[in-house]
Amino acid sequence: MEKNRYILKNDTPSCHLLHVCCAPDLVISYLAGARGDVFFYNPNIHPRSEYEKRYKEVLRVAEFFEMNVVEVPYDPETFFEKTKGLESEPEGRKRCEICIRMRLEKTLEFAKENGYRSFSTTLTASPKKSVEMINNAGINVSRYNLVQYIPNVYRRSPLYNLSQKLIKQLGIYRQNYCGCVFSVRNEDKEKGEEIR
Ligand code: SF4
Repeated sequence: MEKNRYILKNDTPSCHLLHVCCAPDLVISYLAGARGDVFFYNPNIHPRSEYEKRYKEVLRVAEFFEMNVVEVPYDPETFFEKTKGLESEPEGRKRCEICIRMRLEKTLEFAKENGYRSFSTTLTASPKKSVEMINNAGINVSRYNLVQYIPNVYRRSPLYNLSQKLIKQLGIYRQNYCGCVFSVRNEDKEKGEEIR
């Protein structure tokens, strides 16, 4: 099995691990004060080409902000296993809860194994996600652990407008669906297109 590895490593690794879902949310979160080593664990993203595109953009932003990045292998099977039976759930419900939890559990696991003291996620930068669901998942997975989850609401940053300008200036790719194959279909439905 492929292993995680560090890239773009600075002299001093951070003691905080930052789960990053996509490049635009990393920009918003960074300007809202998020720091730490970048952990891009998102096996929900479909298809692989989209995953690679989003990851490449995250690398670009991390380099811009001089952040360390932990390279994590892509394992979509884990997402499909965990969300089996929930394929037709509407967005924002049980499937999303499991998807968010899965990503935060893995972040915590890596943080524990590698001596980080705390972790958080850029997921709360998105206006489309439930901050309560995300922060509750973080608090629950880290319960009884020495590695603390730091709740946040990065989208409430006073520099939110500035981050939008920076995203544009840097020409960062903005996806038009959340990530999984089921959210691609939702997007199609909203547009009135034929569902794949
Ligand atoms: S819609 Fe987004 S949060 Fe929900 S399961 Fe799909 S990728 Fe995960």
